[in-house]
Amino acid sequence: MSLFKSMDNLEAKKEKLTPDGTSGSEHVKCLIIGSGPAGYTAAIYAARANMQPVMYQGMEPGGQLTTTTEVENYPGYPEGVSGPVMMEDFKKQAERFDADIRWGMATAVDFSNLPHKVTIDDKNVIEADTVIIATGATAKYLGIEAEKKYAGGGVSACATCDGFFYKGKDVAVVGGGDTACEEALYLAGLCHKVYMIVRKPFLRASKIMQKRVLNTPNIEVLFEHNTKDLFGDGVVEGAILLKKMGTPEEEEVKINIDGFFLAIGHKPNSEIFKGSLEMDEVGYIKTMPGTSKTNVEGVFACGDVQDKVYRQAVTAAGTGCMAAIDAERYWSEKQE
Ligand code: NDP
Repeated sequence: MSLFKSMDNLEAKKEKLTPDGTSGSEHVKCLIIGSGPAGYTAAIYAARANMQPVMYQGMEPGGQLTTTTEVENYPGYPEGVSGPVMMEDFKKQAERFDADIRWGMATAVDFSNLPHKVTIDDKNVIEADTVIIATGATAKYLGIEAEKKYAGGGVSACATCDGFFYKGKDVAVVGGGDTACEEALYLAGLCHKVYMIVRKPFLRASKIMQKRVLNTPNIEVLFEHNTKDLFGDGVVEGAILLKKMGTPEEEEVKINIDGFFLAIGHKPNSEIFKGSLEMDEVGYIKTMPGTSKTNVEGVFACGDVQDKVYRQAVTAAGTGCMAAIDAERYWSEKQE
């Protein structure tokens, strides 16, 4: 890195402090919200383009990949890599170029005037010439009362985080997509038995994942089953399922389990941008085709918060790169 670049970064950091040393309002060239593959890639590109990016990591530093086990399809890792290790590598790479990575969560935005304003942790307001949104998506729940009742007592949406607690026990995974298969396979390596609760008569997951699941002896797939309720004294001890729900053959089935894992998809983390940016009916931020540009100038979106089709680490990283390039070009044009 050149000396000039280090000095620029030093100046950018100094602006955070008022003369009495307390934190005051801060103006940045590029604010990145979110720290998954999209956010870190945007940080790497923006930092190398001298945009002195400031990143707020959000609730789940590293994003969804920190809840994944093995990533086998990210180019450059021929032997595969664990999700958390990969995200640590992304972070180190962004820090190498002096991206300013901070704890904190964006809690409100005001995109009505330039510079844009983003409130962090309900208190500090950051003024930003460009904002890159990389807030990702979050796991969905079924919406049954028991999920709340047993939160922290057997209900989880992350096998990698919580699977260890169920070593040698029986558990269930809800869902029939790639995530559910991944979670079931991970749990099968730890647990005595894994039920997959699948509402359709088939798995939606990729063929390779289906094959792995169906060839794993301690995974039992319960096709055409829905979850009615969970039971247990303080912690989950079992689930009540409905086989062929809503048909004349509907039947109640009870399984004894200690862990109940949700893997039924995700919802975009776009709540704070509602009313400020154009979104689709489920909350994915709309970007101009082929770009990361939102309908508001100087605001760019990348990764899963704007992608309901591909949702891969590599596509998230790709759109993070696009967002940084779009932001830098926008910023440079504004200086002319
Ligand atoms: P998906 O949307 O692909 O699958 C969700 C699953 O949950 C489906 O089987 C769906 O059933 C089921 N489901 C949804 N709502 C309910 C409900 N209320 N009750 C019961 N079941 C429900 O989500 P994933 O998270 O699995 O995957 C998202 C994307 O990420 C996909 O494109 C996937 O390929 C990709 N991915 C890739 C991985 C990899 O390559 N290593 C790993 C993980 C994900 P139904 O089929 O009936 O709708």
